[in-house]
Amino acid sequence: MDWDQVWIDVNIATMDPAISAPYGAITDAALAVKEGKIAWMGPRNQLPEFDVLSTPVYRGKGGWLTPGLIDAHTHLVFAGNRANEFELRLQGASYEEIARSGGGIISTVKACREASEAELFELGRQRLNALAKEGVTTVEIKSGYGLDTDTELKLLRVARELGKHHHVDVKTTFLGAHAIPPEYKDNSDAYVDLVIDEMLPAVIKENLADAVDVFCENIAFSLEQTQRVLCAAKTAGLDIKLHAEQLSNLGGSAMAAELGAKSVDHIEYLDEVGVKALSESGTCATLLPGAFYFLRETQLPPIELLRQYQVPMVLASDFNPGSSPLCSSLLMLNMGCTLFRLTPEEALSGMTRNAAKALGIEDSVGVLRQGMQADFCLWDITTPAQLAYSYGVNPCKEVVKAGKLVHQ
Ligand SMILES: [Zn+2]
Repeated sequence: MDWDQVWIDVNIATMDPAISAPYGAITDAALAVKEGKIAWMGPRNQLPEFDVLSTPVYRGKGGWLTPGLIDAHTHLVFAGNRANEFELRLQGASYEEIARSGGGIISTVKACREASEAELFELGRQRLNALAKEGVTTVEIKSGYGLDTDTELKLLRVARELGKHHHVDVKTTFLGAHAIPPEYKDNSDAYVDLVIDEMLPAVIKENLADAVDVFCENIAFSLEQTQRVLCAAKTAGLDIKLHAEQLSNLGGSAMAAELGAKSVDHIEYLDEVGVKALSESGTCATLLPGAFYFLRETQLPPIELLRQYQVPMVLASDFNPGSSPLCSSLLMLNMGCTLFRLTPEEALSGMTRNAAKALGIEDSVGVLRQGMQADFCLWDITTPAQLAYSYGVNPCKEVVKAGKLVHQ
């Protein structure tokens, strides 16, 4: 066999549901890579003969290979931070006082409008590096801190550039309808017009987004406004997704599911009707324990119903400066289990197979299988559950992206 590299002395959590073992595991396994793809995978004692003199052989010392992790929901291109506001709140300030002192999402919007593309790129690069060190090989990045055409385009351009210059693949999502900017606070419909008539066409013209998202909530956009934006995006041929049912149940998830959304995200307040709608449309449910934790929420997402209706559950960081300043895939695996009571296998599926589905890339990444892109990590762990169990000592030893070793 003529391969580019071979991995031996490994166990493989393929996450492939076609393999009936937990985690789709193959123990005492081997994996071969050719031209960026998985060329062979199976028990080591079945490894075909290959030219050991000309093929690099990597020994995993009994560790585990998993698919490269996928963080399917982040807002990681932004300027500034909200540590002052965090401190003020802990000193007893009310939300109103914080807003009056220039805090809240508007402070991030102001910082993003003032920042150059180069500054935003450097901040984004550092955050991507942090995720990459913990095994992330694909990330989704949303705009939404510009809330004007120029800045929304700037944030998406930076996200696209990050994807070109970093080994982590970047999928971009236009979230112009993230919040109502102060200029439109008494006329949100006019802002929705701007999103649909000016921003979206400009985003499409520069091919800056793979998907479109909206924050559907009492404090953001109504069901009707959300539907207008999602329909416009769908007509333009873009994938759609939704921030929904985070603080109340407006029925956004069911509406987005009917429109064929790839995912609905947050969903703490989702009810059985909504879960059923997701199940019927094949829409993923993205769970964001970082925001739940940081905001000290108490309403849990309907995990048992999602299981019952076999809705694919995704786990993501929602990394952002306001509600989830937590840039860590391993912490999300842990919180998915500790806060939401996912099993470690469900948590790992949420950052591999199901995350790929939420981004529409499940044909190339998310499980380890012959013919798939060779995106995988070697972890110094004795069981895959260890990834979600412990936090603080990073067991990620190697990362392979499209067949290239990128981190040692
Ligand atoms: Zn979000």
